[in-house]
Amino acid sequence: MKHRIGLAEAVRLRSPGDDNIVFRYGTVLLKGYSFLSLARQALTGHKGWPVIWRSPEVKKSYDVIIIGAGGHGLATAYYLAKNHAVKNIAVLEKGWLGGGNTGRNTQVTRSNYYWPQSAAFFDHSLKLYEGLGRSLNFNVMLSQRGILNLAHNAYELEGMRRWANAIKINAIDAEVLTPIDIKKLVPLIDLDCRFPVHGGFIQRRGGISRHDAVAWGYARAASALGVDIIQQCEVTGFNTASGRVTGVNTTRGTIGADKISFAVAGHTSHLAKMAGFRVPVTSMQLQAMVSEPIKPCLDTVVVSTAIHMYVSQSDRGELVIGGGADVYNSYAQRGGIPVLQENVAALLELFPVFSRLRLMRQWAGITDITPDTTPLMGLTPVQNLYISGGWGTGGYKAIPAGGDTMAYTIANDKPHPLIEDFGLERFKSGALIDEGAASGVAH
Ligand SMILES: Cc1cc2nc3c(=O)[nH]c(=O)nc-3n(C[C@H](O)[C@H](O)[C@H](O)COP(=O)(O)OP(=O)(O)OC[C@H]3O[C@@H](n4cnc5c(N)ncnc54)[C@H](O)[C@@H]3O)c2cc1C
Repeated sequence: MKHRIGLAEAVRLRSPGDDNIVFRYGTVLLKGYSFLSLARQALTGHKGWPVIWRSPEVKKSYDVIIIGAGGHGLATAYYLAKNHAVKNIAVLEKGWLGGGNTGRNTQVTRSNYYWPQSAAFFDHSLKLYEGLGRSLNFNVMLSQRGILNLAHNAYELEGMRRWANAIKINAIDAEVLTPIDIKKLVPLIDLDCRFPVHGGFIQRRGGISRHDAVAWGYARAASALGVDIIQQCEVTGFNTASGRVTGVNTTRGTIGADKISFAVAGHTSHLAKMAGFRVPVTSMQLQAMVSEPIKPCLDTVVVSTAIHMYVSQSDRGELVIGGGADVYNSYAQRGGIPVLQENVAALLELFPVFSRLRLMRQWAGITDITPDTTPLMGLTPVQNLYISGGWGTGGYKAIPAGGDTMAYTIANDKPHPLIEDFGLERFKSGALIDEGAASGVAH
């Protein structure tokens, strides 16, 4: 808690005048959060925390520009600087850092995917998450409380058995549970609801982590390695010469770059269009909501594909509720009332005990969904321009692996082995990776 107050103070203290101080701190800042520094700050009312990332002036050109300061953009910049010794990097963000889907999601972190390519990629991500707090020296509040998928009839349970077996064959943990096991794990659940619970399966290493902390942790670490994070800087076009990208036009002027990558979630098709190619992506709003806070009563993430909702309890006590995307295309970040009602009704099917709780907040993000619900990563038809998009409703859990593999891809101008099958070519070759089941309820 004290740690969080410290961060809030740090953000409040942030002003252009503070930048020099922070920059000097910058190189040592990664080691700066320790028990001793916490104790020292506690004694002085948490007034001395430095800002956690710099706000530098825009340079005329960079070696690499990343568009979008969501988790993917920030992680890519961080791993480029850390693992590939690229020094002159900028992340351009049209709004505020982490204000896109990274700050809007329901924080589910898991790797229980069906196909080997997805399983390998998402488990790499989960493993990076498992060490992320330590490597960023920033508490991302990973809570591996388990993610439980419910089956509501014998056929669904049979499908889940096959799914769990496939996950295990991919060397990832999955365990089929009986209704009695489920009741022990989630005492508040009503197993005899309208769609009775016949069983389910759990990935115990799955869970949640704190999405703001992931964005802030990567931003802080990238900034300390010299990455320029430029907020309020919208990219409005690309400059190219002989089929090769040379820079971007932005609301803060033209900026040159040898290489450019974009990770703009719901705006993937816009950026692709600016660069002169099309992507098979449809943009839909996905909403989530939280209840008023209550005492700890749910320590597993519970998912029902059939009833179409999932729920977890945050460390503040709120129930975090999600479901399917709104069923029309939109760039609004609000979400419609009918889907909100469906999500809440689905929750109450399984947990009638929550019926008297009030909803506290509701919001939405724009998700870019591909036909096979697998991301779009790698090279593009424009030389030296790279894409990380199509994350749809499930790219939060992919942030560390997305950043790591895109950094490799940009540095070497060839896809990282883990993302070789995630490129745009699959829509020509037909080698789709259909993860519709694993992405079925949006989490
Ligand atoms: C309600 C909801 C619940 C979700 N739940 C989960 C979940 O539980 N687990 C999970 O794994 N995933 C979940 N997701 C999906 C996940 O949030 C996203 O896939 C992920 O955050 C994408 O990260 P990103 O960095 O690519 O995009 P973002 O975080 O959206 O960042 C993209 C950034 O690009 C910026 N940008 C856009 N256009 C421009 C431009 N022209 N110039 C400059 N900047 C630009 C935007 O302002 C934005 O900040 C959920 C999404 C939503 C909306």
